[in-house]
Amino acid sequence: MRTSQMLIPTLKEIPAEAEVVSHQLLLRAGFIRKVAAGIYTFLPLGQRVISKIEKIVREEMDLAGGQEVILPIIQPAELWQESGRWEVYGEEMFRLRDRHHRPFCLGPTHEEIITALVRSEVSSYKQLPLLLYQIQNKYRDEPRPRFGLLRGREFIMKDLYSFDRDEEGLKESYAKMYRAYSNVFRRCGLRFRAVEADTGAIGGNYSHEFMVLADAGEAEVAFCPACDYAANIEIALARPQNKGRQEEIPAKLELVPTPGCQTVEEVASYLQIEPTKIIKTLFFKADGRLVSVLLRGDRELSHVKLMRYLGCRDLHLAAPDEVKEIAGAPTGYVGPLGLKSIRVIGDLEVPYMVNAVAGANREGYHYMNVNAGRDFELAEVADLRQAEAGEPCPRCGVPLERKRGIEVGQIFQLGTKYSRAMGATYTDPQGQEQYIVMGCYGIGISRTMAAAVEQNHDASGIIWPLSIAPYQVVVVPVSNRDGEQMAIAESLYYELQQAGVEVVLDDRDERAGVKFVEADLIGYPLRLTIGKKTIQEGTIDLKWRESGREIALPWEGLARRVKEEIENVLKERYGR
Ligand code: ATP
Ligand code: MG
Repeated sequence: MRTSQMLIPTLKEIPAEAEVVSHQLLLRAGFIRKVAAGIYTFLPLGQRVISKIEKIVREEMDLAGGQEVILPIIQPAELWQESGRWEVYGEEMFRLRDRHHRPFCLGPTHEEIITALVRSEVSSYKQLPLLLYQIQNKYRDEPRPRFGLLRGREFIMKDLYSFDRDEEGLKESYAKMYRAYSNVFRRCGLRFRAVEADTGAIGGNYSHEFMVLADAGEAEVAFCPACDYAANIEIALARPQNKGRQEEIPAKLELVPTPGCQTVEEVASYLQIEPTKIIKTLFFKADGRLVSVLLRGDRELSHVKLMRYLGCRDLHLAAPDEVKEIAGAPTGYVGPLGLKSIRVIGDLEVPYMVNAVAGANREGYHYMNVNAGRDFELAEVADLRQAEAGEPCPRCGVPLERKRGIEVGQIFQLGTKYSRAMGATYTDPQGQEQYIVMGCYGIGISRTMAAAVEQNHDASGIIWPLSIAPYQVVVVPVSNRDGEQMAIAESLYYELQQAGVEVVLDDRDERAGVKFVEADLIGYPLRLTIGKKTIQEGTIDLKWRESGREIALPWEGLARRVKEEIENVLKERYGR
């Protein structure tokens, strides 16, 4: 293509609405435009990146035995009522009615549709295993659509569903997908980590997320630099850190005034103690029932761990008046001593806390020298806090690291959750009816595009990995008023096209500086510059966007050399 004929509306200014780099650069370089919150148009360059990622995904899914289908976006409510998720999904689901007032939704995911399909088309063990996938728009009315393509309300997802005879088969399908996902993200040029994950609203019992490590990520990952332990911080195992505590001798319980001290920090500074000495008492409503949670003062609770422990679907902080009613004091002065008729769960560290400080359930007062077991009963303890950086790895003991990550994919072992709910069965060799054992596997295609930009950019713009770049090469004549330069540019452009290189010719009547700046902003992996030197010495400057490495090469035979070089890099760095 010639840039003079292309729709590449670049922007000089950083758009005010864009907080993260990928959002800024994809807008500025003319890849996407916003239509409404979380809803985007992909311009020609953006569309090309999407289809490159999709191509890699298709190759890997097909090689793993996947078969592509196209499932409907509009889904009837009945199927969701069968699985029990019509109510559960809540406000994130876009719901609509047809002219006969029948309820439908725009698919946020497709377990129901695909289970209904397999239920009616599969009846024998001979038809299993089966891996079906599609690449399609998904619709989720996210509470906070933001960061451009990273969290949209309409986004592109690849979703594959596996159907097996038994758990053994599911494990195999899962392992295949795990490998295919690792290939996909490596081939897209991403630095990622597969981490153990919660199963959330999708359900099931075993899951991994594929995380691209980047500061713009909304998730946090704890991982070991020495072994392969890595988990979403929501579920990363946290052991009690109680070094040296056991030596302290329990002292006499003491009631002390703490006027105006509501937070851990205020109490700590008023009493001149470390936050590690404080028992933080939190109150939650879990599926409508009040529970209390105790945590060391400097720790963060993992809501996911608490929800898993309680087995609840809904969890939110209790209202201040509910807390006051049960504890007899406002939040900030509540504590475990004398708490009655409420379930109390302590984090694993709480039993190790000696001579701690806790709210006295009396406004303006705290207790000092509080010891679990002596001053209050602690019947339930569980791993409820978030692991911190520097804590020992639960597998090998090396200090853990903690980083932000963008979840680009997630894989789940669903088991029989959907096949039971919806009656998807097959007949085994003995003639017995069995539930089909399922797995589901998603990749955020549009999110992967943004994640690639988060990891691959510099101050001048995007640095596309060669495998997913919208075009591989840009040919830039320094002056297109120079007939000789243009003639060489045209013939090089022609030869590159003939050789099968994805190339654009910047044939606009612009200053060379403007063209260079735009080429860097857009992020073409290779730039070929034709200038005075080309005419005088017969060489063309070849510059790699990623390394900045620039070499002058004779222009005779250049197209073939470029093609070879591209093939090599694609094979060595981004190949299977
Ligand atoms: P998140 O935790 O980020 O909300 P999720 O766990 O709800 O994502 P899944 O249901 O596992 O997402 O969907 C599979 C993949 O689809 C995710 O790994 C992610 O890459 C992508 N995805 C999910 N929600 C969005 C969104 N709102 N915008 C863009 N991509 C998304
Ligand atoms: Mg997920």
